[in-house]
Amino acid sequence: MMLSREVLDELRVKPGGPAKLTKRSTSHTKADWLGTRGDEHEAKRLAAEDLAGFVAELSRAQELLWANSKHSLLIVLQALDAAGKDGTIKHVMSGVNPQGCRVVAFKQPSSTELAHDFLWRANLALPAMGEIAIFNRSYYEDVLVVRVHPELLAKEHDRPEDGQREDFWSHRYQDINRFERHLTRSNTHVVKVFLHLSKDEQKRRFLDRLEDPTKNWKFSSADLVERGFWDDYQDAYEEALSATSTPWAPWYVVPADHKYELRALVGGIIVDAIERTGPHEPHVAPESAASLEQAKRALLAET
Ligand code: AMP
Ligand code: MG
Repeated sequence: MMLSREVLDELRVKPGGPAKLTKRSTSHTKADWLGTRGDEHEAKRLAAEDLAGFVAELSRAQELLWANSKHSLLIVLQALDAAGKDGTIKHVMSGVNPQGCRVVAFKQPSSTELAHDFLWRANLALPAMGEIAIFNRSYYEDVLVVRVHPELLAKEHDRPEDGQREDFWSHRYQDINRFERHLTRSNTHVVKVFLHLSKDEQKRRFLDRLEDPTKNWKFSSADLVERGFWDDYQDAYEEALSATSTPWAPWYVVPADHKYELRALVGGIIVDAIERTGPHEPHVAPESAASLEQAKRALLAET
């Protein structure tokens, strides 16, 4: 099962064009696409059905990716706090064999990481052939949080005043595009997803984290500070997504206000990406077929 071309096209940021985040819905559902708008029960049912199909499809495709070990898949997830990155990873990857899949969280860089160029730590975490790697945040933080807080550049051994120069950021976008071009030419397929959340929904989720004792651990006061920079983040995302959605590594903007819909759509995007790696049953070369036959005979001849 696959997400329809129309839905994928709508979610994809057209390479060379603007992301237009302010024009994109944060709450669209499949029921809306089908014209049964307003019926939340139906929207949830459709999304759950889709997600189950994608999870099964992903499980099969990952096994073939692993069996062939000729391609790998890098999934980049970016979003503001409380948009649902962690829950999406948990649900979408629930059918995937943990051997052959890893999740890497990009936090504030360590001093060793800061002593290198901004793409260095991403290199260390790339998937080997046959593997899927999910970046929970990524090297894109270096054109997002660092753009919003240029004082962080001092720690990166650049000068904070460089952050005022447009070309400083366009050079970073270029470097990212070249890096991803190199990866895709080397059979590491790259798919990037931005979880598009509304400011109101983020408020509801923060309040939920504060009011529900079982969710208190998810809240950090730093999140509230970053919320104060909401518009700056939207601008940084708008610019970064527009500059780095390429034919070889496109961005998808997924409405994140309804978690059930978000998970189904991300599942569909990943299935589409993995299908494009051309998964197939591994071919057995004639010489291997002969040795398999020999092994079988040896086993059957055991006494
Ligand atoms: P969380 O994903 O909520 O655990 O938080 C990780 C934090 O690390 C986020 O606030 C990110 O913005 C921050 N972070 C990730 N990469 C970088 C970076 N290169 N420079 C500064 N902060 C970063
Ligand atoms: Mg956080």
